Amino acid sequence: MIVLDPAHGGTDTGARGENGVAEKDIVLQIARAVREQLSRDAYRVLLTRNDDSNPSYDDRAALANAYRDAIFISLHVSSTGTPGTARAYYDQFSTPIPQPSVATGPGAKPAAAPPASSLAVWEQAQRPYLDTSHRLADLIQADLAQSFSGSPSASIAAPVRALRSVTEPAVAIEISSVSGSTPDALAATAGPVAAAIAHGISALRQTSSAGVK
Ligand SMILES: [Zn+2]
Repeated sequence: MIVLDPAHGGTDTGARGENGVAEKDIVLQIARAVREQLSRDAYRVLLTRNDDSNPSYDDRAALANAYRDAIFISLHVSSTGTPGTARAYYDQFSTPIPQPSVATGPGAKPAAAPPASSLAVWEQAQRPYLDTSHRLADLIQADLAQSFSGSPSASIAAPVRALRSVTEPAVAIEISSVSGSTPDALAATAGPVAAAIAHGISALRQTSSAGVK
């Protein structure tokens, strides 16, 4: 099961090009085409939205969290970056894992208490999956780098709120760009993006099962 997340929607247009292209529309168009291709590869694919709505981050995550062994892929088109390049991201938490308070050195402050509210715990949901998400992001990025020349060879760690509440491997893919690429060129990225997702997932499965033995 692959849960594809066309980012933004509704009043949240995402990035906007001078040509009037809105990220929210392009990512939906790309997600639909990616779904079509991945379905032909015998993947089950769900979209977090299939219209101009804007579900909350938690609603989007809940769709993936309802399935065992799902993969969550959030799709973005940026306003910056070299046109025709693509990047895969995994989430990077801005706060360290809460640890028992051990003060070291002069002026050390006691560590903050672990989060007490369920909301804070929910926002840590991705943490146990970060290593797998990182591996998947690297595998997808290696493939993207082949199809989109000028793209980095490794994935990027960044605080990505869309991934944070997902209890599955979760990666964001960002394509450049709404202002530097034509709508047709952006739509045409769906094929190589779908291939990169499929190759990344199958490579991840192989390395995971080899590691278990
Ligand atoms: Zn975006």
